[in-house]
Amino acid sequence: SSHTISVKLVLLGEAAVGKSSLVLRFVSNDFQENKEPTIGAAFLTQRCKINDKTIKFEIWDTAGQERFASLAPMYYRNAQSALIVYDITKPQSFIKARHWVKELHEQASKDITIALVGNKLDLASERQITYEEGKTLAEEENLLFYETSAKTGEQVSDVFLGIGNKIPDP
Ligand code: GDP
Ligand code: MG
Repeated sequence: SSHTISVKLVLLGEAAVGKSSLVLRFVSNDFQENKEPTIGAAFLTQRCKINDKTIKFEIWDTAGQERFASLAPMYYRNAQSALIVYDITKPQSFIKARHWVKELHEQASKDITIALVGNKLDLASERQITYEEGKTLAEEENLLFYETSAKTGEQVSDVFLGIGNKIPDP
């Protein structure tokens, strides 16, 4: 029988790593070179079929700026899943990702499914964070791990499929 499972998902990560662009790619299969920064948070939904399940992602795309950081708990507190995004060309964004992993493990639901996402894979010639560094953090912290490009679309739907596959059937 077909049934829909709603999954609350929150995106976290430093400003300009490509959180909104990943959502735009997943929801509209589109990309904007000069995407305007998110203010506060944006809410979008997207349905996708995984085997015989229909998953309705309820996506909270948060702003990365420090002045919004105190709002983040409002969004991750009830989330079943989170994408922690960094930019593979920006070491500072990987440090920030480590902080988000720690904060979620301390403050979010114990059974939250987290994916670590290294974005801007199309800029691999400017890469500063190796695949192994990302993969190692993910293995240590029990996270899914992907490298993506919102620009080319590479691996973007895999992130959401990976999350969807790990969400237990209620
Ligand atoms: P956010 O602040 O994390 O939501 O980041 P945005 O989605 O607003 O993206 C910030 C900037 O990075 C924008 O100019 C995007 O066009 C650009 N961008 C986002 N994803 C990618 C990507 O995968 N590759 C490249 N080259 N640029 C990207
Ligand atoms: Mg944004």
